[in-house]
Amino acid sequence: MSTEFVIETAGKQARAGRLITPHGEIETPVFMPVGTGATVKAVPQDILEDLGVQILLGNTYHLYLRPGVETVRNLGGLHGFMAWPRAILTDSGGFQVFSLNELRRVTEDGVTFRSHLDGSSHFFTPESAMAAQIGLGADIIMAFDECTEYPADPARTRTSMELTLRWAERTKKYFEQHKTEVPWRDNANVGTAAPGCPVERSSMGFDGGTAVGGEKSGLRPEGQPWAAVSTLSEKNQSLFGIVQGGMDLALRKESAERTIEIGFPGYAIGGLSVGEPRERTREVVEATLQYLPTDKPRYLMGVGTPEEIVEYASLGIDMMDCVLPTRAARHGLLFTSEGKISIKQARYTNDAGPLDPNCGCRVCRRYSRAYLRHLYASNEVLAQVLNTLHNLSFYLDTMRRVRHSIRLGEESRFLSGLWSQPKP
Ligand SMILES: [Zn+2]
Repeated sequence: MSTEFVIETAGKQARAGRLITPHGEIETPVFMPVGTGATVKAVPQDILEDLGVQILLGNTYHLYLRPGVETVRNLGGLHGFMAWPRAILTDSGGFQVFSLNELRRVTEDGVTFRSHLDGSSHFFTPESAMAAQIGLGADIIMAFDECTEYPADPARTRTSMELTLRWAERTKKYFEQHKTEVPWRDNANVGTAAPGCPVERSSMGFDGGTAVGGEKSGLRPEGQPWAAVSTLSEKNQSLFGIVQGGMDLALRKESAERTIEIGFPGYAIGGLSVGEPRERTREVVEATLQYLPTDKPRYLMGVGTPEEIVEYASLGIDMMDCVLPTRAARHGLLFTSEGKISIKQARYTNDAGPLDPNCGCRVCRRYSRAYLRHLYASNEVLAQVLNTLHNLSFYLDTMRRVRHSIRLGEESRFLSGLWSQPKP
């Protein structure tokens, strides 16, 4: 067994539980920050740990292009390479390739695409995308799928769904044959925390150029050696399946049933947030959820706003990811308990108050709106750091409160209460 999913409290639809991975436990429902190129932009890993991030997401497409899978594998996989001891999920690359539009061509065998970096031509098959994800070594990896465009006519949606199902079978077959090739199998001394026991340390530094994953880890935590989990070398990654079917509810049902037939330890709902109206997204999520097994984790890919992640958690989604909190932060858009704030506005020039009076994050505890506005207006690097820290804290706190409400059996009250506060 590679991941274990335990539901501790189940409400009418929402549930709170734990996902136990080779690199630690994750409390669900969880929001996963996106670390596209082995970094959550502007935030060092030790601060992500302080914020309570238990799992983050890496993008296979980006890491495949740069620095390359073999480089990452030789440095201990993503965990060793980016010095992140907790859980990681990588996407299949399907959605990223899908967003390249004119730069890609899909056949039965796979997808030919051009790199957005240098225009070079590449070919992803279900097998090669799986090999890449095994080499990167995330705890949870995703089946290679075709993300159906929006809008798409019924015939096209079915063809695309069928292709994803055939690719899912190929993906699973390859995974079963190659799953022991994950980097931590022959590199089990890459630093990690025992499940449920986050590594504590006051500071960490790099010993210039020391490779991670050798006899000594590249990490040098003061006074506390990294504890390798002896059983890590016996653990595998978990491969999740992805349900497609566009906006067609009957096809969603069929896709869910046939993906479950192939058999995965977790299921994602893909192909949403591709331009459809938000009500449609919700409708498809709700319809698809009823066909997914209740005892397996359910992952909704690529959503959403704070309101949306609360809503989807209340529907019974266990895992979500989105670039919104980090990307918006870099553009000066900040989520607060009083609504969205654009920190660049002149109205904050002399505002001595905290960004969000109800937020206990290190940014809101220390800095004024005026200072944050100044940093942003002056294009200071610190603006991106602080804005991202706050937005991530806000998302993570929101999910903490959602989990708490579910455990108290009060998810409906939470839903109706959180966002009813007056906007500034
Ligand atoms: Zn804050």
